[in-house]
Amino acid sequence: MKDADVVIVGAGAAGLSLAYRLMDSGTTRARTTVGQGARSAPRVVVIDAPKGPLRPLERTWCFWEEGAGDFEDVVVRSWERLCVRGPSGQNWESRPHPWRYKMIRSSAFEQFVDARVAVSPLAERLTATVDGVEETSDGVLVSGTMPGGRPLRLRANWVYDSRPLPKLPPARTTLLQHFRGWFVQLNPTNDVVQTFDTDSACLMDFRTPQPAHGLSFGYVLPLGPDRALVEYTEFSAATLPQESYDAALRHYTSEVLGLGSFDIYDTEQGVIPMTDARFPRQVGQRLFRIGTSGGATRPATGYTFAAVQRQSRAIAAAYRSGAVPAPPRPHQRRSLTMDAVMLRALDTGRVKGVDFFTGLFEQIPMERMLRFLDGRTSIREDLAVGFATPVRPMLRTVAELPLLRRSASRH
Ligand SMILES: Cc1cc2nc3c(=O)[nH]c(=O)nc-3n(C[C@H](O)[C@H](O)[C@H](O)COP(=O)(O)OP(=O)(O)OC[C@H]3O[C@@H](n4cnc5c(N)ncnc54)[C@H](O)[C@@H]3O)c2cc1C
Repeated sequence: MKDADVVIVGAGAAGLSLAYRLMDSGTTRARTTVGQGARSAPRVVVIDAPKGPLRPLERTWCFWEEGAGDFEDVVVRSWERLCVRGPSGQNWESRPHPWRYKMIRSSAFEQFVDARVAVSPLAERLTATVDGVEETSDGVLVSGTMPGGRPLRLRANWVYDSRPLPKLPPARTTLLQHFRGWFVQLNPTNDVVQTFDTDSACLMDFRTPQPAHGLSFGYVLPLGPDRALVEYTEFSAATLPQESYDAALRHYTSEVLGLGSFDIYDTEQGVIPMTDARFPRQVGQRLFRIGTSGGATRPATGYTFAAVQRQSRAIAAAYRSGAVPAPPRPHQRRSLTMDAVMLRALDTGRVKGVDFFTGLFEQIPMERMLRFLDGRTSIREDLAVGFATPVRPMLRTVAELPLLRRSASRH
């Protein structure tokens, strides 16, 4: 007898989303699918590290989707207009109908899934540091340490591991998307009359000073007329000293946005790898990697949350149908190839980041860009995206890539 049908290691975006989708298979042991080989709803155990160095800080997850989604209860805010601003203030703004851009905070998402776990007779949440996941002849053994030092040993039919990899796999190009954000509240005595446009999120504002390598931009998500998350982001080879992010944010909020006086009521900071490394998803017959460690992060943008949803739904459907519930490819091969070309062209300095992105948003409608980033565009549309970038340096990079070997990453 196994302790669980499914063990999920890590309760971040990927682990929680998969737990949610598997629980969605039903709250009883009744068969949820009629047909030969269909499985009953699984007994699921989700294990997350205790508060401390392994547990990530609160973060925001943004994504776009059509209409109302499954997580509407925890969507903090959504925007129907999106904009990109050029270095001289050009504004490419559009309503990418039918998509809305949405923001969820990780703590709210965790509470939302935990509430489901609490009422499910089949799901359980454990706190433990997992240090071993080993496939045996009849399943997978998960071992670790619970708070207080008690050992944890769980046997499961299937295990999904979302712990971050100790090191990124070999790659031809690895850049980092590193950023810091301030949640700002404008001061009521603000002498600069500046309110945020609450219907419009600014995805990339290139009015920031550009670094020697890579690119930088501001990101503004209005949360109310006088509140917003304002971030400074770089795509480059290495992170900055802490004070440089704050200096860049001071410059962006005062010199570029002209916000006047404000209080910072919260912050967020992160580093997301942008790499053409290959991330194995199947690491055993019954042992899989999900989330960022399973390659769900889109290399060109760092967006992960939407891919994690697609993957979790597919795993749950495969589980119900009786098939091997392996995570499917999170991004199409063609999308990954295009991203690899873009990363290499940026890294070598063959294309300037600002020209690359502003050219794209100038020529390709936002609605199509969002579909492209979701891997839902046709080959013709993808070619049009390719031709909206600086063609000669990109073609040179296309020719060069197959000759390059993936080598060990510094990160
Ligand atoms: C600040 C920030 C903002 C981001 N914003 C966005 C965004 O807006 N949109 C988007 O699409 N993507 C965003 N990303 C990228 C990506 O969505 C997130 O990094 C996301 O959290 C990745 O999900 P994950 O489940 O793979 O990893 P995580 O969410 O990091 O989850 C991994 C889990 O594993 C647990 N763990 C680690 N070690 C152990 C262990 N030994 N034992 C047990 N548990 C362990 C951790 O506690 C953690 O809960 C952001 C990333 C960061 C850092």
